[in-house]
Amino acid sequence: MTEFEMDLPEVSAERAYKLMLSLANERVSCTGAETKAAERLKEEAESAGAECAIETFEASCGRVEEATLTVLEPYEKEYTVTGYIRSGSTPEEGLELELSYVEDALEANLVGAAGKAVLVNGRVGYAMYERLQKAKPAAIISYSGTIYDREGETDLDIRKLRETYSGAFGDNIMLNLRARDALEMVTLGASKVRLKVKSRRFNGYSRNVCAVIPGTEFPDEIVSFGAHYDSVEFSTGSYDNMSGSVIIMEMLRYFLKNPPKRTVKINWYGSEEQGLLGSKAWTAAHKDELEKHVLMINVDVAGPILGSEKIFTMGAEPLKNYVDAMMKEMGRAVEVKEHVYSSDSVPFADNGVPAVNFCRFASQGAGYMHDRRDDPALAFMSAKALDITLQNVLAFSKRVVNAPVFPIEKKISDSMKDSVDKYLFRKK
Ligand SMILES: [Zn+2]
Repeated sequence: MTEFEMDLPEVSAERAYKLMLSLANERVSCTGAETKAAERLKEEAESAGAECAIETFEASCGRVEEATLTVLEPYEKEYTVTGYIRSGSTPEEGLELELSYVEDALEANLVGAAGKAVLVNGRVGYAMYERLQKAKPAAIISYSGTIYDREGETDLDIRKLRETYSGAFGDNIMLNLRARDALEMVTLGASKVRLKVKSRRFNGYSRNVCAVIPGTEFPDEIVSFGAHYDSVEFSTGSYDNMSGSVIIMEMLRYFLKNPPKRTVKINWYGSEEQGLLGSKAWTAAHKDELEKHVLMINVDVAGPILGSEKIFTMGAEPLKNYVDAMMKEMGRAVEVKEHVYSSDSVPFADNGVPAVNFCRFASQGAGYMHDRRDDPALAFMSAKALDITLQNVLAFSKRVVNAPVFPIEKKISDSMKDSVDKYLFRKK
């Protein structure tokens, strides 16, 4: 090795950041933009010299063609709403319903809610949806954003009635409105509404991009890297999560140049934002090989200039201590916790594969995800900040991938299994 070669950087945050900027556009599940991003990632991986394939999977999709809400009593006003994707539809002429504000939809809030339209606080989670469906309202209205939002400066969220919800508790008609408008309706005592929703469901296709580098010494032991490359509506999905996608692209480049002792798989997952659909599809399609997977390394959110480094481990108790000690030994400032991180590592842990999640969270007010403010134009991210997470991932990965004896026991603790079951709504 010449001196010049020794000075060559192993990975480049500048190159990664440029790739992130070139893919900074909305990439929603099952859209042409998502497909295009998949093809672009595949091209990039292949141009680096990797073997790479796109694996297509079916995903439940939907489109809302029309959604309206008009307050009829005690005043008349039409509000801007979005229909939930996969919402039920009203009859063509719409539905006139009594309206009740049921706050967090606790049992006592829901007495007498049957047959009414109910307005609930914030996000409709699984347990809330279950309580709501038991009370049999005719329609469910949620709100999002803040009471300070101004139209034109913000987008009204498009939410989805997930299959896991409707499959367990049945369908309903679901609408979302602005927090500001919800405030006005409750202040003025809106008591009767007319709703109209025209919604269509269909199966679409989403894609995982999969690259592999065979191990030189232990080819039958696989360490797989993951990052989702899809985004939500209105977002460029740069912070969440092209940042993680480009970090694992750098890991691919690193292991192409420095052949790994264990087999390395690098997967970019589609449709994560719709309920981890890509990683669920991948683990289902590759069930037979999962016994060879010794670890999953997931990167989901990185890049904010003002932020903090976190690692969430999902495995047996010693995994957390091992990662924490290794980071301290290397002088890397990362908070390490055992925690079910809501990302593509979950289906792996669910299949017995321990996982380590790397993330850099923006400090409060210094970066946003899941709306139009996840945009590099707002200048809250940088290559330098991306490099912090990239170097953490690299330092950790090259040690474990090339360890003479694999240092992590392939075990998920009972408490972690329990937490994963709760996360996947199998337990309360
Ligand atoms: Zn994400």
